[in-house]
Amino acid sequence: MKYFIGTLVLLFSYGQLHAQHPEKKEPEVIIHKEYSGEEPRTPQATEVYEPVPPTVDPIAQNGAPSDAIILFDGSSLDAWVSSGDGEAADWDLNDDGSMTVKNRTGDIQTKQNFGSIQLHIEWRSPAEIQRDGQNRGNSGVFLNNLYEVQVLDNNDNDTYVNGQVGSIYKQHIPLAKASVPSGAWNTYDIIYHAPEFNEQGQKIKSGTMTVIHNGVLIQDHVEIKGTTPYIGWPKNPAHGKGPLRLQDHRDNSRVSYRNIWVREL
Ligand code: MG
Repeated sequence: MKYFIGTLVLLFSYGQLHAQHPEKKEPEVIIHKEYSGEEPRTPQATEVYEPVPPTVDPIAQNGAPSDAIILFDGSSLDAWVSSGDGEAADWDLNDDGSMTVKNRTGDIQTKQNFGSIQLHIEWRSPAEIQRDGQNRGNSGVFLNNLYEVQVLDNNDNDTYVNGQVGSIYKQHIPLAKASVPSGAWNTYDIIYHAPEFNEQGQKIKSGTMTVIHNGVLIQDHVEIKGTTPYIGWPKNPAHGKGPLRLQDHRDNSRVSYRNIWVREL
């Protein structure tokens, strides 16, 4: 009896221990089943001819790809509206093919809604330095209207690193700071995959973001954990397609943009 009780106690303790520390699952081994069976012995046996990818002229539209939707080419702000009231976008259209944030007129956003996209956008912070930290050349590119890739003049201007230039604001520190000097044009090439939600409005697949800043990879397919608020945790409201939005930081940032196009994915 004594041994029986002793064994029970031992079994119970073992069970408790394992309940608290479940065994770590080994990663599943990946097997590519399409490459199993008898290995082909001729080069032709592994050559495929369809589906044929579409042909894209990479510079057909003044340097933008032939299948890109041009959102801003310097000629007008017709593709944009003011985020606050939906009226015509009020930012300054410049002679050099760029536009500049008009202070305190609010963010602007595209009339068209997008889901997953490849985005090309160029931006410039002013050469004349004003203020520092988050108040120097701050703007932002909001994918799907919700997820900000930070635009900031970080040259000789440190700030919190999860809010520096190229960060997914307060969520992902960039892999590098790849800015050109203040007053010069930066490029962002962004690949954004939208999150997915179930019928109850719960997120079932996170969105992802890849950002290349002036040719340098700074966000490598990172998981978007939700919205990118200034204060508080990221939130995950269910959403479908949404506009691309550009930020008026309301502190006379004088950030300019040019050459904006997207390819829907
Ligand atoms: Mg910003």
